[in-house]
Parts: sequence; structure tokens; C-alpha cells
Amino acid sequence: MTAISIPFANSYAALPDRFFVRQAPDPVRAPALIRLNRPLCDLLGLDADALSSDEGAAIFAGNAVPEGAEPIAQAYAGHQFGGWVPQLGDGRAVLLGEVVGTDGLRRDVQLKGSGRTPFSRGGDGRAALGPVLREYVVSEAMHALGVPTTRALAAVTTGQDVIREGYLPGAVLTRVAQSHVRVGTFQYFAARRDEEALRTLADYVIDRHYPEAARADNPYTALLAAVVARQAGLVAKWFGLGFIHGVMNTDNTSVAGETIDYGPCAFMDIYHPGTVFSSIDHGGRYAFANQPSILQWNLAQLAQCLMPLIAPDGDKALALAQAEVDAYPAAFEAALIAEFRAKLGLATAQDDDLSLATDLLACMAEGEADFTNTFRYLANRIEADPADDTDPASLFNNPDAFEAWAARWRARLSEDGRAADACAAALRDKNPAVIPRNHLVEAAIRAAEDNGDFAPFNALVEEVLRPYATRPAGSRYVRPPAPDEVVQQTFCGT
Ligand code: AMP
Ligand code: MG
Repeated sequence: MTAISIPFANSYAALPDRFFVRQAPDPVRAPALIRLNRPLCDLLGLDADALSSDEGAAIFAGNAVPEGAEPIAQAYAGHQFGGWVPQLGDGRAVLLGEVVGTDGLRRDVQLKGSGRTPFSRGGDGRAALGPVLREYVVSEAMHALGVPTTRALAAVTTGQDVIREGYLPGAVLTRVAQSHVRVGTFQYFAARRDEEALRTLADYVIDRHYPEAARADNPYTALLAAVVARQAGLVAKWFGLGFIHGVMNTDNTSVAGETIDYGPCAFMDIYHPGTVFSSIDHGGRYAFANQPSILQWNLAQLAQCLMPLIAPDGDKALALAQAEVDAYPAAFEAALIAEFRAKLGLATAQDDDLSLATDLLACMAEGEADFTNTFRYLANRIEADPADDTDPASLFNNPDAFEAWAARWRARLSEDGRAADACAAALRDKNPAVIPRNHLVEAAIRAAEDNGDFAPFNALVEEVLRPYATRPAGSRYVRPPAPDEVVQQTFCGT
């Protein structure tokens, strides 16, 4: 026990026993705090000063369990790379409990890398430092970029090595999420034909995330429709940032619509729709441009799970569930059009706007242009930024093709009739200057792993927290990797 108090208000641990296993975190040798997320502490109503102490490090390592915590490992199943696994579950994580934040939202506080659980299968229950740092910096960047995501509250080193390709320093991430209910959680009970548990879970999710669905004629079709809408919006935002999740298994698809389970994820530098980073994604199942259709596949799995709740008659249930899944492509396209209208600085809607965007993407792929910087520097065509007036055409191997596109874009913008300064400001408010580029993430991990030097990691976190501020031309946080810095592969680190 510890003197630091966390105002836990747990609801998942009150669900039936078969939803989880009670499991305390397994203490580690030498907890040391790498970083504490103070703004997130404030949002959760936690005392950041108290938590930045050794006692806080002990909590974040699982060595001290604060009063009110009810640590559990959650049960779930899932399709991994399309293959069905009837039991996964938290094999290296425990949910300490839930905290209702100062904004009134309930959030999970979970330790990831906190030791073995009954769901560990062959694994050691631990996390290596590299993936913990990657999840910290990328999830906080996503939050700063306005993407629904789990958050990182703290990261600690454990003073213990883990065995992966060799010996690596171990770490624990404290993750905060609107919940950890996954499509795979529904699949777990559906596969067991446990309709009572399915109903309990669906009612729990409606109550926690989609209370408006409770008032619908059919709350379970309304739940499905709401998840479809949120997930469509989420993946459209990934698309607008060149983000590749890397492991969109159904167990990594959050029912609350947050980006979750950052593994071999990465942002693209040069745009290409077929980009894959994950070392285990041999077939390119989760390649950048496949993400929208993979999501539909995952949503169809959720729909199937919900069918017994939607209607007692199988044919009727199928028709109702299918209708919600069929609504997905149009929902995704609408979200994508809205995303790219904003990225192109368009203030009004016209029918051809999506093709204006996709034609730019095609031109970028052809011209091997950097995704982030192409969009960021579009504003310089409207009003040059004195701090960095790089011309977007300079990013293309085919500048003539870009110029032809840019002429169309300017003509389209003039139809909006928006003032140049307002248009340039809107473009810079939407298109980030700084994302956690893969080579910078890798360099930060290298320094931490090899030399125990967390300065590059901390500096990178600080930078990604203000993604829209212009940096001086040539800043290392803005420039794409040099050829010898390009990261070809990322690893999930399990
Ligand atoms: P992930 O790839 O992190 O989404 O994990 C997929 C599944 O493998 C989940 O059930 C995890 O809990 C489990 N898992 C991943 N790494 C480990 C590990 N080192 N020890 C035990 N279980 C693990
Ligand atoms: Mg997972």
C-alpha cells in the first residue's frame, strides 16, 4: 500500500467474474520514472507532484498498488492477421481501475508490461523499453493532433532486462483509455455462445460510451451504428496524417473508437499507399491504404457478435446488422472528404473535392513527395511563412505534375473567396509541421536503450506536443530522414 491516493471508481471489476481475472501487478527490481504526463494528471485529478516521487514510480511499476485499485486482467479474443484466436486477454497488462476526470469522463488506468497473467500464454508479461517509448511519444502526438487515442500517463524503467532478440531493458507504460473494450471482447463471449455476457457487455458499453443508444428503438443496432461512425472517423483521421497502425487485429480495435495498442505503428515520410513498416506484416494486410477496408472487416466481426442481441430471429438480425456494416463505406468516405477538404484549406463543399485530394496523393506517390511536408507547405503558396517558406514543389520529383495540380487547387480555392491570410492560417492549423517521424523515434529509443539517455525522447515528446507551430527551415523535427536514416521496418516488440 502507498500513501498516494488515486480516486478510483471502478465499474469493469464489478462485472461478472468471467469478464476478467483478478491479478496484481508483479513487482520489479528497481522502478525509476522516465516521464510523467502532468497535463494528463491534471485532467484525471491526480497529484502530479506526489506522483513524480519514488512512490509514484513504485505505483507506475506495479510495486505499490494504491488503495481503491482493483487490478484485473481482462478477457478477450480476436482475429490476428485474419486468423481466429479464441482466447487472448491481457497477457502483460493489468487494469488498475478507473478514474473519473475533471471533464466528467471515466477513464481506465492500465499498467502495460506489469508481469504475467493467466492470459500470458508463452509470453513473459513484460514490455521492452523501446516499444514503451514509442507508444508514449506516438500516442501523445496523436492526441495533440486531435486523433482519438489512448494516452500515456507515465513510463518507468524496471531495472530488469527482458529477452527479445537479445537482452533489452524492461519498462512499464501506464496507459489511459476511455476503456479497453475491444471488438475482440465481444468476440470472446460470442464464440462461447454466452448471450448473457454479450448483453451485459453491450449494455456496459452503451452506458459508458454511447448513452444515446439506450434511447434508440433498438439499442444494439444503435450501438453498432455508433461504433461504425466513430471508427470511420478515426481511420479517416489516420488517413489525413499518413499514419499506419500496423496491427489492426480485432483485439486492437477499440469499441470506444480510440487508436489503441501502438505496436509497429509509424507515420509515412514519402507517400505511398502500399507502405508497410511492420516486420510481421508479410502480406501487407495492414498496409496504409488497406486500413479502411480492414476496419470494415473488423466491424463486420462486431456486427456478427451483436446479432443475437439485435433480434431473436436470425434472418432479421442479419439484415439489421448488415445494414449498419453496409453504411460504413459511405460514412468513411464522408469523413475522408471532410478531412481532406480541411487539409486543402477548402471552406466550402464541392462534388469534386475528393478527387482533388486523391489526385494530389497520386502526384505525391509518383513524385516521391513527403506526406507531412507536402500538406504543411501548401500554405506557403497562399502566404509565405517567414520562418520556413519552403515551396511544396521542391518536395516533388515531378514538379510539373505538382504545378498542374496546384493550378487546379488555386482555382478551386478562389471559388471559396476566402481571404489569403485566413486560408493560410486554416491550412497551418490543420496540417502539422511536426509528427513523430520514424527515424526520430528510433533515434530516441537508441539513445535510451544504449546509453540510458532519455534527453532525445523527452525533447521529441515536447516537440510533438505542439505539432502546428512553424519550426525554422531545416529543423531536425521537420526535415524528412536522410537516405541513411530511413527506417525500413518496425517491430511490435512483444
Ligand atoms: P499486442 O500485440 O500487444 O496487441 O498483443 C497481442 C496479445 O499478445 C495480447 O493478448 C497480449 O496480452 C499478448 N502479449 C503480447 N506480448 C506479451 C508478452 N510479452 N507476454 C505475455 N503476453 C503478451
Ligand atoms: Mg493488442
